[in-house]
Amino acid sequence: MSALRPSSSSTPSSRAQDHGEPEVIQFVNCRLLRDGKLVKGDLWINTKNGTIGSSKRAPDAVRDLQGCIIAPGFIDCQINGAIGFNFSTIPDDISDYPKQLTKVNKWLVQTGVTSYLPTLTSQHSEAYHKAIPFLTPTPRPSPDRGASVLGAHLEGPFLNPHKCGVHDRSVLRTAQSYQDLDTVYNLSRAPPHSVKMVTLAPEVLLQEGPEIISTLTGDGIIVSLGHTAASYEKAREALAAGARMVTHFFNAMPPFGHRESELSIANIIIPAGNEEAPSYGIIADGVHNHKSAVMLAHSVHPEGLILVTDAMHVLGLGDGTYPWRNGTEKSSVVKSRGRVMAPKMDEEKRERMVLAGSAVTLLECVNNFLGYIDTTSVGFEGDEGENERIVSALMAVTERPARLLGLEGSIGTLEDGTDGDIVVLERVTGGGGGGWC
Ligand SMILES: [Zn+2]
Repeated sequence: MSALRPSSSSTPSSRAQDHGEPEVIQFVNCRLLRDGKLVKGDLWINTKNGTIGSSKRAPDAVRDLQGCIIAPGFIDCQINGAIGFNFSTIPDDISDYPKQLTKVNKWLVQTGVTSYLPTLTSQHSEAYHKAIPFLTPTPRPSPDRGASVLGAHLEGPFLNPHKCGVHDRSVLRTAQSYQDLDTVYNLSRAPPHSVKMVTLAPEVLLQEGPEIISTLTGDGIIVSLGHTAASYEKAREALAAGARMVTHFFNAMPPFGHRESELSIANIIIPAGNEEAPSYGIIADGVHNHKSAVMLAHSVHPEGLILVTDAMHVLGLGDGTYPWRNGTEKSSVVKSRGRVMAPKMDEEKRERMVLAGSAVTLLECVNNFLGYIDTTSVGFEGDEGENERIVSALMAVTERPARLLGLEGSIGTLEDGTDGDIVVLERVTGGGGGGWC
């Protein structure tokens, strides 16, 4: 078994300047995640313009990484909050919202996440109108600003009430036209690019479903299918209209169907002919999915797998009970031993505790996924196999989400000219005792 952890041994500096921030840093003796491989090489970062690129002059500082891995900064496409702040909860004093957001950004960047989509669960329209203007894309990450926001992910309220999980059923909506989404989200007046992704159930778009999806995608918004009981045909129709993702695969949706009459949305991740299968989010927290299910999805469509945390505001906090505003309800969540549970009225009006979001970091998801491949895969033996496993896990939080979001020219890769946000990792083996770097 192996795992990755942030490196603490980026030994500086055979030629560091005595004063001030070095403008050009050369990282040497490292392994770079490039072109779907781990390759030995050096990486140059220009701290003045914040980009990766080979330099025409001598570096101001050289950092020997002693064989550590450099990956692009991690990208989380679905996270509801952290360290006590939930992006869906509008504070009484609205000026607190950006302050709390900045705190989360600064905390998240320490976990390896350098950019992300703050995710709002199903709410009344007023909450969207207030929160979305704060979620416009921010400048590239820095130690001062922390992780950067890439725009909001609106998960609901156009969801199937029978697959709504912990979302407040009373705020869920159906739509007859794009205008219904515009009314709820205020898209036509929202700042440019402030909404990056919408999760919806295609079957609650009662009319003009394909037109609604194509209008959203035409505006640069990724449509993800989730909290849905859509049939295979309905899901295919949504994909043909422009949907490109499935939200937290396996959760809040029917399982694979094995007979023609029972095919479900789950079957659409199986590539069919020339049609591109969608990307799909996987919560690899060890709770939402068993490793066998994750590896089943990975085996049928490895290129589509994107790791997400779906973390709630209890991420970064200790076990305990914490307040939570869920749609119209004043509620609470209980975090205990890696699980986050919330009370929920079922359709017979009985209250029961159900699984809510997660409380894991994206690096923990990477390591869990790495462990799944370690214990379930064949044909990955030796050093080469080890590299392939690590690449597979890292691609799911870097290049693949960047490509989905149309941002591969600036984040998610280590190509020249892309943003210089990187994560330096060292490998530990045997449960954390040994290791190298
Ligand atoms: Zn969800």
